[in-house]
Amino acid sequence: MPSKIDMLAAKLPQAVVCRDPDAIASRLGEWRGRFVGATSLLLRPRGVAEVSQILSHCHALTIGVVPQGGNTGLCGGAVPASDGSEVLLSLEKMDEIRRVHAEQFTLAADAGCVLADLQEAARRQNRLVGISLAAEGSCQLGGNLSTNAGGVNVIRYGTTRDQVLGIEVVLADGRVLDLMRALRKDNTGYDLKQLFIGAEGTLGIITAAVLRLHALPAELFTVCLEVDSPAAAVALLAEVQSLGGVAVQSLELMPQVGVDLVVEHIPNCRQPFAGEGPWVVLTELELADVAHRESIAQKLLAVPGVRDGVVAGNAQQATELRKLRESFSAAQKREGASLKHDLSVPIGAIPRLIAEGGRRVVALCPGARVVAFGHIGDGNIHFNVSEPTADGERLVQAAPAIAEALYELVVQLEGSFSAEHGIGQLKVDLLARYRSAVELDLMRSLKRSFDPKGILNPGKVLARERLP
Ligand SMILES: Cc1cc2nc3c(=O)[nH]c(=O)nc-3n(C[C@H](O)[C@H](O)[C@H](O)COP(=O)(O)OP(=O)(O)OC[C@H]3O[C@@H](n4cnc5c(N)ncnc54)[C@H](O)[C@@H]3O)c2cc1C
Repeated sequence: MPSKIDMLAAKLPQAVVCRDPDAIASRLGEWRGRFVGATSLLLRPRGVAEVSQILSHCHALTIGVVPQGGNTGLCGGAVPASDGSEVLLSLEKMDEIRRVHAEQFTLAADAGCVLADLQEAARRQNRLVGISLAAEGSCQLGGNLSTNAGGVNVIRYGTTRDQVLGIEVVLADGRVLDLMRALRKDNTGYDLKQLFIGAEGTLGIITAAVLRLHALPAELFTVCLEVDSPAAAVALLAEVQSLGGVAVQSLELMPQVGVDLVVEHIPNCRQPFAGEGPWVVLTELELADVAHRESIAQKLLAVPGVRDGVVAGNAQQATELRKLRESFSAAQKREGASLKHDLSVPIGAIPRLIAEGGRRVVALCPGARVVAFGHIGDGNIHFNVSEPTADGERLVQAAPAIAEALYELVVQLEGSFSAEHGIGQLKVDLLARYRSAVELDLMRSLKRSFDPKGILNPGKVLARERLP
């Protein structure tokens, strides 16, 4: 008796079907190795018609479908169940950039396009894609939309959600929803496309999108400042945002302890200051008039709590400063065990989050090193914790209590326990716990309405429901 998955494979064009265990194995783990799934069938459609065909068969056979882009997500969202009952749907063959329309500042592309390729295509026409993150060399447009990716430029351009003008989606039963309109104004009923953005593949399979583009910024003015405290960094943010003729491209907060780890573990990284922090802010600014560089630097240095500053004199120095920030996760990984919490709070609450959160962590695991850094303009702090220099095992034991203490604090501060990375399978319990009954009720109603058989990325975002 053939299994349901064998029956599905037999119904599809052979060019779409991959049953090679080696090719499949490389796609079954999550980036950090926290989740590993199983499946005997990988599907690689070449266009929306084949995605539609796959979904209609999966719907008829009631087979769970797990969409996968670049598999750089950090919550296990693109990993299938470990019992082998689901199929993996990779969009990698759908990688056509349909059009870069420089005049109207739009780009239309298939969901399998790698983000860096889209950025390059836009750049060739003097345009910019407003999404940028460290995984851009491998993450894909469909994954970016499905996770509503953030990144370092959110302060300037917003999240992925803000970049999307149009979208094409295949629904659970195989119907194609074509919303590839490149309109900036379109008040015609519910904005359906927004439902699929950030839905992590649980409401439909995104096959293409139209993005808005931006003008390429002029050469950026990169400034690194040594500050007393997170409160001084928040004051600096307010100052820089109120300066005329200045657009803030990024503004990142880094603790000295994190800079020390980067300098220790990552080649060619140096301390930006002779002093000892304790905090460093790195900002990139687009100036309406470069002649104002000196006066703007002086204004930033005059903000209370700012101790010192360096200005990148050329592109090479700017890259070196950026590398400090971009290397935080890699340096922590080399140092040993670390815990990661992707938190957001109202910007004014950042100092309290860091101070009170730090106290709670150290009380639960004496000697643990708090490496809280991130995009302060978005209120988004990656509240990471590195193991104590002695007896690292203790951190792993304390991990659940630390997470609990931080999430409780975030709730008190009216923040979010998942600012950027979504829910996937990692945070399903947290969503059920921290979102209100009304929110959860509406989310479940939406899921049932879009996917009555529960075949789309089962068990991600919301707990699995019994299939009919
Ligand atoms: C080094 C590194 C740095 C990162 N930095 C950031 C950052 O700054 N900001 C940030 O927000 N994230 C960041 N991330 C997380 C990750 O890169 C983003 O979430 C990214 O948008 C995921 O894209 P992907 O193509 O890899 O998606 P995947 O990991 O393949 O999938 C993510 C989710 O989307 C679903 N999905 C994928 N494609 C589709 C589709 N076509 N239709 C429907 N559902 C789909 C999957 O099922 C899964 O639930 C980082 C990750 C790494 C490894």
